[in-house]
Amino acid sequence: MNLTFDNRFVRRLPADPDLANVPRQVARAAYTRVGPTPVRSPRTLAVADEVAESLGLTAGHTASQRFADVFGGNDLLPGMEPFAACYGGHQFGNWAGQLGDGRAITLGEVVAPTGRFELQLKGAGTTPYSRGGDGRAVLRSSVREFLCSEAMHHLGIPTTRALSLVATGDPVLRDMFYDGHPADEPGAVVCRVAPTFIRFGNFEIFAARNDPTSLGKLADFVLEAYFPHLGARTPASMLALFREVGERTLATVTAWMRVGFVHGVMNTDNMSILGLTIDYGPYGWLEPYDPAWTPNTTDEGRGRYRYGTQPQVALWNLARLAEALFPLIGDPAPLEASLQELHDGLRARDLAMMASKLGLATPDAALIDALREVLARAEVDWTLFFRALAEVPLDAGAPTSIPSSLADAWYQPLAEADRAAVLAWLAGYAARARLDGVDDASRCERMNAVNPLYVLRNWLAQEAIDRATQGDVSGIAELLDVLRHPYTPQPGRGSYAVRRPEWARHRAGCSMLSCSS
Ligand code: AMP
Ligand code: MG
Repeated sequence: MNLTFDNRFVRRLPADPDLANVPRQVARAAYTRVGPTPVRSPRTLAVADEVAESLGLTAGHTASQRFADVFGGNDLLPGMEPFAACYGGHQFGNWAGQLGDGRAITLGEVVAPTGRFELQLKGAGTTPYSRGGDGRAVLRSSVREFLCSEAMHHLGIPTTRALSLVATGDPVLRDMFYDGHPADEPGAVVCRVAPTFIRFGNFEIFAARNDPTSLGKLADFVLEAYFPHLGARTPASMLALFREVGERTLATVTAWMRVGFVHGVMNTDNMSILGLTIDYGPYGWLEPYDPAWTPNTTDEGRGRYRYGTQPQVALWNLARLAEALFPLIGDPAPLEASLQELHDGLRARDLAMMASKLGLATPDAALIDALREVLARAEVDWTLFFRALAEVPLDAGAPTSIPSSLADAWYQPLAEADRAAVLAWLAGYAARARLDGVDDASRCERMNAVNPLYVLRNWLAQEAIDRATQGDVSGIAELLDVLRHPYTPQPGRGSYAVRRPEWARHRAGCSMLSCSS
């Protein structure tokens, strides 16, 4: 495994001079040097071959025990300089102070033929940022992070990637339901891959600590390494940086809305400065359409991070980023104007996305609002609905009865009134398609390019986890393989594109998840 490392984060940003690996506040530093804590018996459970390949790793490499040793945290490759980053964040609307990589350790930055990528282990042991935590991750949450990172990538949505899933052989104690019954679970480590893992929170911590020098160094680095087209740091380039992060963030969140992804914990420490989807915890996929749904039981009462609020929350988080960048810009007016612009563009962004889901050229607001109302009447599968809708013939006029393939997207037989509402909406849809000059064939093609058939349904992930817990990891590779081509029907794989079965409705891991991972 001959990887070339050039660790710019470590070289360019202020280091914590203290090497003590004990929970503590770390001032005026972007990171602390700390290595992974060795595990008992690292064993590779899954590899994303295309990620390995993009790093220059062969199947021979990934099958080796050395690979499991390195990506389980027992060995380092020459050139790796492991560290944990210091960041803060707003959690559930409140400033939480210093957080940092409490169980993630970045190993180094690979210079690969396809680009530069940081490799980061999640679950690799304690760091000065672990607070009360054990620095570890359980198998179930690691399988979920591994699969969802790759699923998002194959959907064409900006995300951190996952190279590997390695079992540690060590038990990890978790109180999964927070009900005073902790139990041992198998431990695992995921190696995440991204150009950088810098979050809004990395900026926020320096601003909160009134440390403009470190804040400036971080901004210089981010501009130079990831936004070189914006030039060196000036108030104007910082403003341009903010605008671009805003655009990217909202584009990513709009894509989540399209495919029905609910992040679950959109705290500012979980917002990537590159607009990547990052930190897969109690996320979920919308099955029955419900704007108020959240998979995160910790957030059930307030529903701050439910499906329908994600764009607004992204904007709120961007406002926190604007506050953090303010000391480097010095004038609040252009930041406020920029936030206002992003806010004003939300509706147009949503309408354009929904129009694309409908295969239309015109973002017909009335039609889109009416669709949401119709879909909210009775439980209908967000994913299956749009795939079935693509097949409904409209060229000869709207149907007079609901095709059974479309009716199948509903979780219960449709009541008469709901049936009528769907038909009325279909009439409006047909009229709009005709006005737009979109015929059935082109509409179907456009729709199927943006409406996935296969998504990481919560219970599909749970089935793979259950099997892996029993020692059969083949379900993980199978699921990954299906999710590689989410927009293309795959013969023999119909069971991956069906409504949530009844058993999964109230099952932990399927419809309910906690932050305990
Ligand atoms: P999250 O909600 O997963 O984004 O985590 C919030 C903060 O808690 C981050 O600073 C994490 O590194 C930290 N954290 C989460 N789980 C653990 C753990 N098991 N051990 C140490 N730190 C953790
Ligand atoms: Mg996090």
